[in-house]
Amino acid sequence: MSKLPTSPAFVIDQQALQESIELLNDLRALSGCRVLYSIKALPLISLLERLKPHVDGFSVSSLFEAQLAYEVLDKQQSIHLTTPGIRPNEIGQLNQVCSHISFNSLSQQQMFSNAGHKQVAQGLRINPKLSFVPDKRFDPCRLYSKLGVDINTIEAQDIVGLSGLHIHTVFSQYDYGALLQTLDKLQQQLGRYFKQLQWLNLGGGYLFKNINDHQDFIQLIRTLRQEYALEIYIEPGKAVIGDAVSLVATVIDCFVSDGKVIAVLDTSVNHNPEVFEYQRQPEILESHEQGTYQVMLVGSTCLAGDVFGEYTFLHVVKIGDTISFPKVGAYTLVKANRFNGYNYPDIYSLDAGVLNCLKRYDYADYREHWL
Ligand SMILES: *Cc1c(COP(=O)(O)O)cnc(C)c1O
Repeated sequence: MSKLPTSPAFVIDQQALQESIELLNDLRALSGCRVLYSIKALPLISLLERLKPHVDGFSVSSLFEAQLAYEVLDKQQSIHLTTPGIRPNEIGQLNQVCSHISFNSLSQQQMFSNAGHKQVAQGLRINPKLSFVPDKRFDPCRLYSKLGVDINTIEAQDIVGLSGLHIHTVFSQYDYGALLQTLDKLQQQLGRYFKQLQWLNLGGGYLFKNINDHQDFIQLIRTLRQEYALEIYIEPGKAVIGDAVSLVATVIDCFVSDGKVIAVLDTSVNHNPEVFEYQRQPEILESHEQGTYQVMLVGSTCLAGDVFGEYTFLHVVKIGDTISFPKVGAYTLVKANRFNGYNYPDIYSLDAGVLNCLKRYDYADYREHWL
């Protein structure tokens, strides 16, 4: 990449994005599944426009996301909503913009299913009670989960009037083991209702690009479609945009603290809040395992714990050096904030070696926010 004109910058690599799109296209062609992009990962309108011709719709989790999806998509494309957070004063508008709503609980279904338009396909989010995510903070099937109706409590009457079911139970999975086991359980416990339904939404959470063998997935979708005549939806977020974006920052200060070299960046954990939220050390491109220079990379806010972590480099790190955090497309910008009054990164598109600035926030935006 040519040197960025500004720093920090959130750089969307169109080539990498194209690869995710092509893979999902192939999977759709081979399996017959329908693909929805889960816009909560990154709802940038230019990205939504870019994805629009390649997806069957978007998946959303709130009224604002649903409205944005509705603005971008064509009317025959789908907008699937599921959330624990439907509010009584929003159901009317949600019914106007969504094509599918999967209620998160039986009580929400009771409260809102009659407020429905005839055109809205109503479903139920099922919690299959099969955990695959070791970190409970990411596990929708954890004990006392708030996400979906317990599969063991579903009765025939709960299915009446529904056109589909929704599940979403994993996070950042690198194989289809969880999907196969979950569908096995779903078929055993609820398979007798499948013939009454039109669709099954399998949620997101699979990192399709990082999975080598897609045969299990393709076979599963084909079987479900053939055996039960169901339309099968998937709704990847991170798998679409995660790998396609880097956050590129610059070292603005270096000094020693208690014997360790500290390099201050012109970014912070506030541009990638999951680093602090989950206390994870992000990958960077410039470090090297065999390096002998240890450097603690930190953000430039007043928060003492605004620290990315310790990295080893082959060379001394100096003021002006570039540090790039790859694969930060999902759940970064959408969670970013301007704590301390530090601006958001500029947003660039990188296409065939050419950088194009898509968005630059300035003081007027900051002021407007707090008006
Ligand atoms: C977050 C979410 C997704 C997308 O998840 P990824 O991990 O980004 O693929 C899809 N469906 C639902 C219901 C979600 O909550």
